[in-house]
Amino acid sequence: MNTKLLLENLRNIPDFPKPGIQFKDVSTLFKDPACLKVMADELEQRYRDKHISKVVGIESRGFVIGAILADRLGAGFVMCRKPGKLPGATFKATYLKEYGWDTIEIHEDAISPEDTVLIHDDLLATGGSMQAACDLVARFHPRAIFVSSLIELRMEGLDGRSVLNADIPVDTLLTVYG
Ligand code: AMP
Repeated sequence: MNTKLLLENLRNIPDFPKPGIQFKDVSTLFKDPACLKVMADELEQRYRDKHISKVVGIESRGFVIGAILADRLGAGFVMCRKPGKLPGATFKATYLKEYGWDTIEIHEDAISPEDTVLIHDDLLATGGSMQAACDLVARFHPRAIFVSSLIELRMEGLDGRSVLNADIPVDTLLTVYG
């Protein structure tokens, strides 16, 4: 994987959305065709033999590579969305993230126990969003759950991986400090 290309194209925006947050802006990775391909190729390779039948993307930046990956793996794509966006009956989870409380929802009929599920987001910070998504997906009792993110944000007091269930394999493309 061309890590250098990805790191060169990842934009940092200080103090967004509030003072003190170093926002890792993946829009600059998404808009670059070479970066988009590197990320999709790498994740496809990592999950090709895992029999993934559903990719769950976390709104909204998890939808971009999540949907590409679902297509490449021959899997379906499921959206984890912010409250009130999904039209059907949903399961809900509320959690604390790096800059505030949030809730995510998933359709109650989105996944079946026969599925093997990959949950994908752009970035792992506190791990709160991913943990909430894992809790939602676990309600369906799928065969297995995998987790991927493009970026793992590491800094003092921040270790998103450690809050996730130790049984769930977590794979990230880039580890970024601070
Ligand atoms: P967390 O739940 O704390 O792991 O936060 C991860 C979610 O919040 C992801 O959906 C990210 O898009 C977003 N997020 C949190 N912190 C940042 C950050 N510093 N830069 C970019 N996105 C972030």
